[in-house]
Amino acid sequence: MQLLSPHPFWPIRDGLPGSYPPLDADARCDVVVLGAGISGALAAWHLTEAGADVIVLDRREVAHGSTAGSTSLLQYEIDEPLHRLARTYGWEQAAHAYRRCLEAIGGLERLAHRLRIDCDFQRKSSLLLASDRTHLPRLHREFLARRQAGFAVDWWDRAQLAQSSTLPHPAAILSRDGGQLDVYRLTYGLLAAAQRRGARIFDRTTVSRTRFHPRSLELGTTRGLRVRARQLVIATGYETEPFLPAGTTELHSTFAVASEPVDTFAGWPAKRCLIWETADPYLYLRTTSDGRILIGGYDEPFRDPIRRDRLLGGKVAALQRRFRQLFPHIPFEVAYAWAGTFARTADGLPFIGRHPRVPRTWFALGFGGNGITFSFIAAELIRDQILGRPTGDAAIFGFARQTSVGEKRTA
Ligand SMILES: Cc1cc2nc3c(=O)[nH]c(=O)nc-3n(C[C@H](O)[C@H](O)[C@H](O)COP(=O)(O)OP(=O)(O)OC[C@H]3O[C@@H](n4cnc5c(N)ncnc54)[C@H](O)[C@@H]3O)c2cc1C
Repeated sequence: MQLLSPHPFWPIRDGLPGSYPPLDADARCDVVVLGAGISGALAAWHLTEAGADVIVLDRREVAHGSTAGSTSLLQYEIDEPLHRLARTYGWEQAAHAYRRCLEAIGGLERLAHRLRIDCDFQRKSSLLLASDRTHLPRLHREFLARRQAGFAVDWWDRAQLAQSSTLPHPAAILSRDGGQLDVYRLTYGLLAAAQRRGARIFDRTTVSRTRFHPRSLELGTTRGLRVRARQLVIATGYETEPFLPAGTTELHSTFAVASEPVDTFAGWPAKRCLIWETADPYLYLRTTSDGRILIGGYDEPFRDPIRRDRLLGGKVAALQRRFRQLFPHIPFEVAYAWAGTFARTADGLPFIGRHPRVPRTWFALGFGGNGITFSFIAAELIRDQILGRPTGDAAIFGFARQTSVGEKRTA
């Protein structure tokens, strides 16, 4: 699948921070991590640090799947609002999922710092705007739910928004605990750290076959090589269909633009906070350390990459037009624009862990708008499950909830 159109921002800005060879001989290890995007890199690091003998395989250059196209906002706020998630799973589980995402932002920050990975990590507030007056009641319900769960949030009414910004919206939730980074550089940094600890990393190596034995599994590549392992971590992002029983996700198309560096952020509130809105499909914005603006969104509910890339010009124009309405005093010149495939789940949560019908395999599927924080949770959770450590996260992030949602919806 063409996951991205040709010119996503980070690989152009950052170049190729590292390179790895393709697999050229049969190999053995404890755990194969399939996929070397942010999910695979985090899993490889966590497992290697825990003492596992790890091989990482990727069909592309590492970090050149969806990770290369990510706008890299870090939010604990998932696509499904807390008050709605609580209706599906109960208050405790829903609040726990939100809190785990918040912890994941801190976890990413600490990890990048500890491994000295220069990935522009910055703490940022996150402003969720009511796109329309009719969205106000549910936005306020969400504000109350978040406050009840102990999150640091403020309600911004129209007067507060007008005083702090040029944004024309009727109200917003300002959440103080978000972040942003360059996930492409983080991925390269994590893989390099895992390699220093002994992980073997091979890219341009496509796995085309899996075979399960009573005490091991075997992966076959398109060049006829074999890798034998005891466990498999599937971190293949939006290309997971061949490894998973159908019906888990829907694939969509999404669009993003990076501006040329600007010399003013006039009207941008809360120290260049992250911005998004309640409309569906929504628009989201952030800035970069080199003074650019990244805008993304205006998703389409289909996956065909040819049709997706044909829409790019029109989407860029629409995103730019909307930016001018929000920030009339900030000049916006398009530098790069790209389109990507994107997966959503029905409840906004990822799928992490074992699937009852796939032996010896752990899935790290950080689907949804918070893919990066989900990737971090997946790496910790899978490491703990492989090591047999107790974890309280399996129920809310695992495949078992698919059944429980199905049961609730048909009840
Ligand atoms: C435009 C855009 C904007 C986004 N913005 C945000 C954001 O602001 N915040 C956020 O949290 N998330 C965002 N996301 C989502 C985020 O980018 C993804 O969740 C994340 O990059 C997924 O990482 P991954 O490692 O799971 O998948 P990928 O990066 O796609 O990595 C999977 C890897 O598996 C490899 N692979 C697949 N099949 C095989 C095979 N058979 N053999 C060998 N290798 C294989 C692929 O080559 C690929 O490199 C955005 C996504 C897009 C497209």
